[in-house]
Amino acid sequence: MLSLKDILTSREADCQPLMEAVVQAPSLARLILAAWALARFGAVCVVEAVLEERAQQPTDWPLCPHCGCRLHSKGFVSRQITTLVGLVRWRRRVGRCPQGCALGHQVAPLDEALGLAPHQQTGTELQRVGCALALFVPFETAALLLGMLTGVLVSPEALWHWVQAVGQQAMDALQRELEQLEAGLPPAAEPLDAQTAALPLLIGADGVKVPFRPQAGTPRGKTIWREVKVGILARLGRRRTASGQEEPRVERRRVVAVLGSIAALSPRLWLEAVRQGVLSAPVVAWLSDGGHGLWGLFAARFAAYAIGILDFYHAAQNLWKGATAWLDGRTKRARQWFVTARHRLRHGGLKDVLADLGAALATPGLPASARVTLTNLYTYLDTHREHLDYERFAALGLPLGRGLVESACKWLIQQRFKGVGMRWSEDGFNHLLHLRLAWVNGRFDTLFPLEASPTL
Ligand SMILES: [Zn+2]
Repeated sequence: MLSLKDILTSREADCQPLMEAVVQAPSLARLILAAWALARFGAVCVVEAVLEERAQQPTDWPLCPHCGCRLHSKGFVSRQITTLVGLVRWRRRVGRCPQGCALGHQVAPLDEALGLAPHQQTGTELQRVGCALALFVPFETAALLLGMLTGVLVSPEALWHWVQAVGQQAMDALQRELEQLEAGLPPAAEPLDAQTAALPLLIGADGVKVPFRPQAGTPRGKTIWREVKVGILARLGRRRTASGQEEPRVERRRVVAVLGSIAALSPRLWLEAVRQGVLSAPVVAWLSDGGHGLWGLFAARFAAYAIGILDFYHAAQNLWKGATAWLDGRTKRARQWFVTARHRLRHGGLKDVLADLGAALATPGLPASARVTLTNLYTYLDTHREHLDYERFAALGLPLGRGLVESACKWLIQQRFKGVGMRWSEDGFNHLLHLRLAWVNGRFDTLFPLEASPTL
């Protein structure tokens, strides 16, 4: 077996200056940094020695993809890759077809065994850390942080390229899942312990605007704001606070998002809902405000499984609009009516609110604009009758507002995509978005496989 002492002895000339820097370090901070540089170099030496030894093992040559002859070695060729511990170099056998076929790229069985792609220049373990940083901060900052944390200098452009490549993989994987769902092959449910599986499943959706460049490839021109549709799914648990009170707590939060219409969100949200147990959860609740499109999505996909809840604050806001239109100029009466109507709405008195509105609409001399507002309010409440049963929702322990959805939008979109001066290209946005989705949904590491894939 390789011995650490032998490896370091063979590289003594390179190690010695690093060791001297450690010995000469004036402060503890300098001492630690110098020792760390030495440790990283030691790691590179060990990795290179291991790779050199593996490269000496007999090679199992594959067949030529063109003529079917078994390849044979044309000798050792060097390869290098930037890793979490620094640049690693080694030499390994590269194959050649005895018939002289052109192979396109170097065929090196050792590379494949190590899980390396033909043109890969950076280690998967390094890309994983770099992409994780880029999820939270701009690429320039992420590159600086990566340098501080690992000692490996990577350009913001390189980081950007990693995010594009891995984000595209995530999008392609999602596309395949959507096609399978379309073909009648739903995804497997995500494993869930029995306790969590017994909790209500909440589903909600919303839209949020993100600034885009007007033209690809140039930062010039006026910002275009485009809407990103966000859907969220979570289990509603409870936790006990320090003072012993119980309060709701969101568990197993999963987020879907798409730069596009509600029609584009619809299959994505359903895919994730199936994965999160929409077909088996004891109670499913859908939460959203009055937007027509979202209630259309509810009707098309979720109405058979879920209780629809119209956000109480949104409903109350509309009551207030109605009150001010109807009782224009009579502020005190408007406020009184609003307070009463809101209380009725919350506690099972929707009929009384509708009766009030009906009476108001029958008032002779009601101004035309007030008539329009009150008619709209009446229709809105009447249409959503079933979604306004707040007494029942509260008795089931369900939330009456969609704060859950809003906080997901804030985290997913505002935190990273709406920084000062930020403007996105469609691809740049989508790739980073899908990495962030993978992160928040607990699937980030599946994008950075640390094992060599047997299919390569
Ligand atoms: Zn050949």
